[in-house]
Amino acid sequence: MNITGTHVAYLHTCKRKLWLFANGIQMEYTSDIVADGKLVAETTYLDRSRKYTELAIDGIKIDFFNVKDKIVHEVKKSDKVEVAHVAQLKYYLSVLVRNGIVDPKGVIEYPRLKQKEYVEWNDEFLLQAKQWEDEICLIVQSDICPSIVKKGICKSCSYYELCYIAEV
Ligand code: SF4
Repeated sequence: MNITGTHVAYLHTCKRKLWLFANGIQMEYTSDIVADGKLVAETTYLDRSRKYTELAIDGIKIDFFNVKDKIVHEVKKSDKVEVAHVAQLKYYLSVLVRNGIVDPKGVIEYPRLKQKEYVEWNDEFLLQAKQWEDEICLIVQSDICPSIVKKGICKSCSYYELCYIAEV
């Protein structure tokens, strides 16, 4: 199975969301919230493409990679720092290390918060990445979609109507 940063992020957000996404039920692109996020990323750093390289490697896609300094830049529209963002970045760094890049770093930029979250390489990320991959495979290959876990994030989730339609 080809594991992407989105799978890792959803593992840390909602296992049901992970299962729905991985089993071909994709609604993110019709979500205004996701579109809004893409707009933030596209309009905040207009000169990015001149400074950074887009990198596709082992199924992941990194939009902004500073090759010289080995720094992955992620831009998030969120107005709070989320565990899923950090996990996704750690996963990207692990894939880079698996492919021979030594001591990469990462930074998550939150334009709305005017805040940055820095992640330094740690060898433990490799173990975590493997555990996440195993867990993701187990969840998405199951015939059973995980139950709804009512969370604050549900209202802004693209699967909200799908999950809660029976309750409307
Ligand atoms: S609406 Fe809530 S339970 Fe359903 S997939 Fe989204 S986060 Fe998970």
